[in-house]
Amino acid sequence: MPNMHTIETSMTMKPLGSILEHECPDCGSVMVLKTSKYGIFYGCVRYPSCEAAHGAHRETGEPLGVPAAKKTKEWRIRAHNAFDGLWKGDSRCMPRRKAYRWLQTAMNLDHEDAHIGRFDIDQCQIVIDMVSYWTKKNGSPDDWRNVTKDNFDSLWSGSVKVMSRKKAITAMKHALGRVKKDSFDFERLDILDCKKVILRVAELRYGTDSEL
Ligand SMILES: [Zn+2]
Repeated sequence: MPNMHTIETSMTMKPLGSILEHECPDCGSVMVLKTSKYGIFYGCVRYPSCEAAHGAHRETGEPLGVPAAKKTKEWRIRAHNAFDGLWKGDSRCMPRRKAYRWLQTAMNLDHEDAHIGRFDIDQCQIVIDMVSYWTKKNGSPDDWRNVTKDNFDSLWSGSVKVMSRKKAITAMKHALGRVKKDSFDFERLDILDCKKVILRVAELRYGTDSEL
């Protein structure tokens, strides 16, 4: 049962002048909640000599993502365009929900960090590379197998494991339409198999209803 007090508090609008926990990405000063004819936003206190601005949620005043310098913002736009190509337009190859799960898996991120609006330039470049790799028709099967194995191993080992190795193998066989007594051998996977495994790993880790 959710606590009513918590709900009310979380819907309260932050007062104008509230200080953003992150410093101005352009000059290092403080950013505060302001209002303009376009709505509320975080603006640098050194305005007009510094024009840095950052989005705020219009009902709560919470900051949208992490503020970034101009160059990072440009990279985030590029990464978003590349990523959106996975689930819309001519190069579309999976539904939107799957694309977001793919992003989490591919970048090895927790649910709440898997937003391009929080990425730094390095992460943006990785997204762009991963997308071009994913949509490339003639990727090397060995490269695909390596990526797939890393994904699979993360299910049962390391800090974000979610199940035993035995259960993970059974789940992968199921995803590939194989019966229990079949072997699960990375050397035998073709590229389509690899894609199936990677998407199934994402589902097992984040659930089929995760929405970003
Ligand atoms: Zn500034």
